[in-house]
Amino acid sequence: MFSFLGNFRPFDWFLGLFSQDIGIDLGTANTLVSVRDKGIIINEPSWVAIRKRSREPLAVGAEAREMVGRTPADIIAIRPLRDGVISEFEITEAMLKYFIEKVHEQLLTPFPRPRVVVGIPSGVTEVEERAVRDATIQAGARDAYLIEEPVAAAIGAGLGIMESRGSMIVDIGGGTTEVAVFSLGGVVVRRSVRVAGDELDEDIVQYARNKYNLLIGERTAERAKMAAGSAYPLPEERTVTLRGRNLLNGLPQSVEISSIELREAMAPAINVIVDAVKDAIDETPPELVADLMEAGICLAGGGAQIRGLADRIEDAVRIRVWVAEDPMTCVARGAGRVLEDFDLYSRVLATDDRARRIN
Ligand code: ADP
Ligand code: MG
Repeated sequence: MFSFLGNFRPFDWFLGLFSQDIGIDLGTANTLVSVRDKGIIINEPSWVAIRKRSREPLAVGAEAREMVGRTPADIIAIRPLRDGVISEFEITEAMLKYFIEKVHEQLLTPFPRPRVVVGIPSGVTEVEERAVRDATIQAGARDAYLIEEPVAAAIGAGLGIMESRGSMIVDIGGGTTEVAVFSLGGVVVRRSVRVAGDELDEDIVQYARNKYNLLIGERTAERAKMAAGSAYPLPEERTVTLRGRNLLNGLPQSVEISSIELREAMAPAINVIVDAVKDAIDETPPELVADLMEAGICLAGGGAQIRGLADRIEDAVRIRVWVAEDPMTCVARGAGRVLEDFDLYSRVLATDDRARRIN
């Protein structure tokens, strides 16, 4: 059992009077930072531009993403968390440090020694967890706590996860979809699949290539997805223009594609997401299923904004599905909430095998 008194450090307590508690969503697509009483103060893509040979980080966040596809040959821009695993320790570390330092710059904190809660994808290994902790401490945190992203998302979405009544979150990010059922502050059922927003973009790229011999970039595909993508028939179907290069003659080409075609392109990946929810419900004890039938299933993450996804899932599982308010900021807000109400939520950190107090 965690206790503040057992760990009381007067110097840190004193510093704490002058520094902020911060919550970080270390997402596969976007990193967000929330600060107590100030809300979300950083929201940037999880990209790092590095020099290819030395792997020295050159730019982080939005600046790094701007470089994608435009960099000289010896500079590459990467997403170190892309598939929900930390493939590049040092680069993830550099990114985390950059964001924590940026918070201090923005807030002009006199003694930047914050307590930090970091939301991490639930698929990460213990070694990766340690890397995140070390990076957080090195970046100046006086305490670092890790929390599983679906847990933070549920708290941020306002689900009463500490209650005995069951609740369910589906967090659809860039690299992973995480499904979790909670009761009494514990994760009762958990599912994680490496199919989420990125996969939908890749499917659109493939579709354009197969059907129109059109080569488009992933960012073009992502824009089409946001503009006209859907998981369920729309009241009014739409069209969007894809611009790319014709694979047969090598010339620039634009193609009008309909929301019906986009839905067809995205269907296999959407089905994987729907199946993950179904499987989780299959594993959920009947009493908790009864609770879910009353409270519904909450969608969070950027992918929650796919048109008609809630309807599509609702059709498949026959439980009401709703989208959290401001779904893309749930994890960061939830991580921040943990520090505001540490006595209540330390149980979430301590009882869960993957989200535990460290340091
Ligand atoms: P992560 O937690 O992995 O960083 P996010 O929760 O930030 O991911 O979500 C990023 C994903 O959400 C991306 O794949 C992005 O394309 C997708 N996304 C964001 N907005 C929308 C939208 N309006 N419609 C569909 N997908 C969206
Ligand atoms: Mg996320």
